[in-house]
Amino acid sequence: MGLGKDYASQECSLARTLEVVGERWTLLVVRDAFYGVRRYNDFLVHLGIPRAVLADRLQTLERAGVLERQPYQTSPQRYEYVLAGRGLALWPVVRSMIQWGDENLDGARRLRVFVHALCGSELGPSGECSTCGEPAVAPRDVEMLPGPDLDTARTDSDAVSRALLQPHRLLRPVNVERAAT
Ligand SMILES: [Zn+2]
Repeated sequence: MGLGKDYASQECSLARTLEVVGERWTLLVVRDAFYGVRRYNDFLVHLGIPRAVLADRLQTLERAGVLERQPYQTSPQRYEYVLAGRGLALWPVVRSMIQWGDENLDGARRLRVFVHALCGSELGPSGECSTCGEPAVAPRDVEMLPGPDLDTARTDSDAVSRALLQPHRLLRPVNVERAAT
């Protein structure tokens, strides 16, 4: 029997979660949403993802209540994507997976450091701030700083990557320079 496309026979919540976020690229879209990427074209250039795949992942995430579309322009109507409640609830997952990679993968590089914006202390291994005694710092209170291995001198990167070389509060729209149209 071939490997099924989904985990329909699995009742475990892990399998059901993977139905939403387990496809290639999906968690990177969610990560970018935490970083403040909102617009289709910004996801496209930052991820280097095929258009059809991005459209598919955005649709899946919207249907699952992870992202929601908000209009930012009329005539023509254009939408941006922001994290909804179920998306915000994925912060511990995204943060833990980045940390797991930093600590466990060969050649892992520390590109991002997450600190508690209110006090400047780096988050602990469970996403806590031990300085403030805050057991789970909410993403809106997290500042992302360039990590020691982030090459801040790179000039060939895309506009989103360039914008994220600066310290950036999670969820706030990333400040992408836009060519005049
Ligand atoms: Zn703190």
